[in-house]
Amino acid sequence: MITLIQQIIEDVYSNHKDLNEGEVATYIPELGKANGSHFGICLASVDGQVFSVGDWEQEFTIQSICKPFAFQMALEERGRDATLQHVGVEPSGDPFNSIELDPRTMRPYNAMINAGAIAIASLIKKDPVEAGVQAFVEKMGQAAGRTLRIDEAVLFSESVTGNRNRAIAYLMLNCGIIDAGVEASLRQYFSQCSLLVNCRDLAMMAATLANMGVNPVTKERVFDFEYIRDVLTVMFTCGLYDYAGEWAYRVGLPAKSGVGGGIIGVVNRQVGIAVYSPRLDDKGNSVRGIAACKEIAAHLGLHAFEFTNVGSSFMQWLNES
Ligand code: GLN
Repeated sequence: MITLIQQIIEDVYSNHKDLNEGEVATYIPELGKANGSHFGICLASVDGQVFSVGDWEQEFTIQSICKPFAFQMALEERGRDATLQHVGVEPSGDPFNSIELDPRTMRPYNAMINAGAIAIASLIKKDPVEAGVQAFVEKMGQAAGRTLRIDEAVLFSESVTGNRNRAIAYLMLNCGIIDAGVEASLRQYFSQCSLLVNCRDLAMMAATLANMGVNPVTKERVFDFEYIRDVLTVMFTCGLYDYAGEWAYRVGLPAKSGVGGGIIGVVNRQVGIAVYSPRLDDKGNSVRGIAACKEIAAHLGLHAFEFTNVGSSFMQWLNES
């Protein structure tokens, strides 16, 4: 028998599968090879149940969805005060690749935009660079519950074309935000963005955040609980760049999108949501991803300030399944 949640995500899938607006990202040439018709949805609950539909097994690069997880790692390694000397927690209201720092502090506005993520990459990089990349890949594998790897073609493609990010990095070197290992920081950042994941991986990573840092299936403690609140807050206010306010208003969940076409949402202590569809709007967010998340959140009453299903709405739906 098909469960209620499975039926709901299948309905959401069919409601949006013919939505063909948006364009696959091409500014990183290798991303242009993605199939625009791909569309997958996956939900992973904190009690370890997984619901998937469509192209949920299709791998793609995580891109900016690496940013909250790298921020978590920096907080764990450096602590709050030291990390926040290099990055703020204010929404910028500007595109993800803006070449700007907060003029009052000279820090990047937050860790969800490129400048902040490069600053964070410089904090968690190691010597040699491969060691820092490996530490990130392993941590993400623990959160996903399987071994993950880097897409070398995407990494190469972004490394040779990513001069805008290089400009941001050198601006931050000039302002004392990152150290002189600029190319190493960029290598760490580009590698993080090139991690291959599928919808199930992302849903499980989101569910690990929702589950206070413990992977709901493997039961492994992946993240330090102390900093998850920090990460979810910045995801809530900054996760969708210059769409962040609109997203918080309409969907009401901590979330993060990436130009690979992925998007995650976290329902605290309940469920991780992931959608993949590579056609993006002009802000770099997945068109079907946003549409599907809006419908899932509205249908299940998941908005953080939803009054009708106070507190435990997703778990109530599960119980009714
Ligand atoms: N690697 C991409 C970049 O730096 C990530 C951007 C994104 O996903 N929004 O441009």
